[in-house]
Amino acid sequence: MDGCIFCRIAAGQVPANIIYRDDEVIAVEDLNPQAPSHALVLPLAHHATIVALTRAKPTLAARLMTVASQLGAERGGERGFRLVVNTGEYGGQTVDHVHVHVLAGRRMSWPPG
Ligand code: AMP
Ligand code: ZN
Repeated sequence: MDGCIFCRIAAGQVPANIIYRDDEVIAVEDLNPQAPSHALVLPLAHHATIVALTRAKPTLAARLMTVASQLGAERGGERGFRLVVNTGEYGGQTVDHVHVHVLAGRRMSWPPG
């Protein structure tokens, strides 16, 4: 989708630190990390939100979560990790291309603010 920063990263038009890639999904390091380890897992294809993605391509949504949980397990080890999918204005979503945050390396509070 024109002008979408994550589509541009997926297409190789914008540099990013890509840590995983397959034919449907990539993972990149977040530009503004909120934890010692902060990656984003996103589909190559543009879907705005997790709601849109699960409606259009539920198997791709499952793939996204599989990659995210494997990355979290790798990086968080026995101490654990957090997966977050911000959705819409109240969910705090700022990039309208669905992505899963994978946060690890520190104890995180609950509930979020
Ligand atoms: P959200 O607020 O859930 O939509 O998350 C968007 C995330 O994308 C934020 O954590 C940003 O730091 C991150 N971000 C924005 N632009 C880039 C970029 N070019 N490369 C990597 N991460 C980015
Ligand atoms: Zn996009």
